[in-house]
Amino acid sequence: MTRGAAVDEETLQFYRGNAEAYAGRTFTSRQARLTAFLAQLPPGASILELGCGAGGDTAEMLARGFDVRATDGSPEMADVASKHLGRTVETLLFHELDEIEAYDAVWANACLLHVPRPELADVLARIWRALRPAGVFYASYKEGDGGGRDTLNRYYNYPSPEWLRATYAVAGSWNALSIESGEVIGFDDKMASMLFVVARKGG
Ligand code: SAM
Repeated sequence: MTRGAAVDEETLQFYRGNAEAYAGRTFTSRQARLTAFLAQLPPGASILELGCGAGGDTAEMLARGFDVRATDGSPEMADVASKHLGRTVETLLFHELDEIEAYDAVWANACLLHVPRPELADVLARIWRALRPAGVFYASYKEGDGGGRDTLNRYYNYPSPEWLRATYAVAGSWNALSIESGEVIGFDDKMASMLFVVARKGG
């Protein structure tokens, strides 16, 4: 499969070149959201993690007894996460996901925000197909009103809540889709408004 427009190469290059530095940072803002997400799942549920970065969330999910497939699009980041976790983290680009009803849940913290806007519906549809019926899906995005780059040259799709709802709707049928707002400090040391989306796969 060619990468085409589905991957922002400059963004991926950033993570490939800064994997160790990124892993050295601690981001704790999603801890409560991860706990709430896991509370919706049966014990030992299978979770696909996309864009896992250094594997901090993976470690938490594994410690709680979940069956996690951790992945990241940067081979260097996947290596760092593999060392941290003591188990293999696969290199997987979002648009390479091609499974059907394989997971009870998908966790995608602060990574789908790098998907070019015209490609997001396709990636969401892949996630929808990979989920089992009523599977739970979490993702977070930096809020805004159109795509652009930060000072580190990383691309962001910067969605509004309305745009996200419309894009999720194109990708598949979801139940109980909720969007919460919050703020986090990113790797660029800037405060960003975030949108946290949780949805269940509908029939
Ligand atoms: N989820 C981790 C966290 O919360 O710390 C990492 C978030 S980091 C901001 C974004 C991650 O998405 C990076 O590890 C990067 O390599 C990965 N990524 C970027 N574009 C990707 C793509 N097209 N496919 C898969 N992973 C990608």
